[in-house]
Amino acid sequence: MAPNVSERTYIMVKPDGVDRGLIGEILSRFEKRGFKLIASKLALPSKEHLEKHYADLKERSFFPDLIRYMHSGPVFCMVFEGLDAVKTGRAMLGATNPLASAPGTIRGDFALATGRNICHGSDSVENAEKEIALWFPEGTLQYKLSQAAMIYE
Ligand code: UDP
Ligand code: MG
Repeated sequence: MAPNVSERTYIMVKPDGVDRGLIGEILSRFEKRGFKLIASKLALPSKEHLEKHYADLKERSFFPDLIRYMHSGPVFCMVFEGLDAVKTGRAMLGATNPLASAPGTIRGDFALATGRNICHGSDSVENAEKEIALWFPEGTLQYKLSQAAMIYE
């Protein structure tokens, strides 16, 4: 089967990451890795919107704190496209608990606490598509990178 170079993932700099000036750093890591940015925006989502994004976690004890944290300031929303974007995006983020994240990962380089882990990344292709539809109802862009032949065989 031909490799799927059109896989999409939803990456979001959380309010602590925005406040700490890490939008450019995080975006840059995905760009440099070879992923294609196909949508981005700064947003101030409602609590209801954030509750939809984290609907799978609504029974968890930390859910109210998570929603308060995510609602404390703007988030920077991005969609990246490329080979194995979901799995590689998660690897680039590191573990949910930054203390368990290897140095070199985003959380392993810039965060210490699970409740302030600066960045979100989709955990499956199915969830990525749901999250992209939730955050970018206007859709994503289609265009070709002139460097594609230097990134993929
Ligand atoms: N979270 C938390 N306490 C926990 C687990 C998760 O505050 O015990 C927060 C943390 O910000 C995490 C988010 O909830 O990033 C979503 O949790 P999930 O298990 O989906 O982790 P992720 O996919 O972000 O690594
Ligand atoms: Mg998750």
